[in-house]
Amino acid sequence: MNEGKRYNNLSGYLRETFGGKVAKLSIDGGFTCPNRDGHKGDRGCIFCGEMGAGEFASRLGPVQDQVDEQIRLLGNKWKTDKYIAYFQSFTNTYAPVERLKEVFEPVLGHPKIVGIAIATRPDCLPEEVLDYLSQLNERTFVWIELGLQTIHEETAKLIRRGYPLETYEKAVEQLKERGIRTVTHLIVGLPHESREMILESARYVGETDTWGIKLHSLYIQRDTDLYTMFLERPFPLMTLKEYVETISEIISILPKEMVVHRITGDGDKSLLHEPKWSRDKLKVIASIDKRLKEMNILQGCAL
Ligand code: SF4
Repeated sequence: MNEGKRYNNLSGYLRETFGGKVAKLSIDGGFTCPNRDGHKGDRGCIFCGEMGAGEFASRLGPVQDQVDEQIRLLGNKWKTDKYIAYFQSFTNTYAPVERLKEVFEPVLGHPKIVGIAIATRPDCLPEEVLDYLSQLNERTFVWIELGLQTIHEETAKLIRRGYPLETYEKAVEQLKERGIRTVTHLIVGLPHESREMILESARYVGETDTWGIKLHSLYIQRDTDLYTMFLERPFPLMTLKEYVETISEIISILPKEMVVHRITGDGDKSLLHEPKWSRDKLKVIASIDKRLKEMNILQGCAL
């Protein structure tokens, strides 16, 4: 493990791979989402806010300008010359390949960009897009993020994910065949999911053996349908203690080499309704680290 963590965290992985600190820049490619524009749905996933699950994405116009502006803003904090351009908001492969090229190519030409991370949906990876991603993958460090959230179909319907598990499985296989790194998102604490259901999702992701995983805590933002649903029909939310215990158990069943990109959520604090504890990200992470140490849990130790 790296950086003194008991799991294979992303920043340590990148540090080892690139020989120093690598920071992520959130870039807005100006895409939409089929789950919002009427193709799959018109209201999106119930937890998705106005910014399309990319609350920190830059919105400053041309992508090159966004990269420069973000480096200017973050440069003092990170003291690095190596950055990954992270296309986080909405569905960043939901466009013809020509349009994808217009967005991604100028970013790759930037001297401080060492890689590109692309968040998308598994139902937005047609063959020609996969072929382009494959080319990108030969030219730079690429990972693709897929928002699975849960393997349980009843929850997937409730959150209006808009595709079945088979679609995710097919996308992962196609990305793997092309040697493209894939990161799976899970949300921990979705309505009416027991700890065992959450662990089943995590175990499944471990078995599909994607390169990385992102674990988000469920948080309810006031600009989402989840907020309305919660007010009308409240459901039990995880306490910090339950969350910390669950994440610790998940870490124990993830393959040792899987890169853990995130272990908690990071929404817009000004819009957060519940759970209040999720506001303090550093405390959540420290609590998980403490629990892992106390229980002598290392990533993959229970496999
Ligand atoms: S797929 Fe992503 S951008 Fe689209 S509605 Fe769901 S969370 Fe929002």
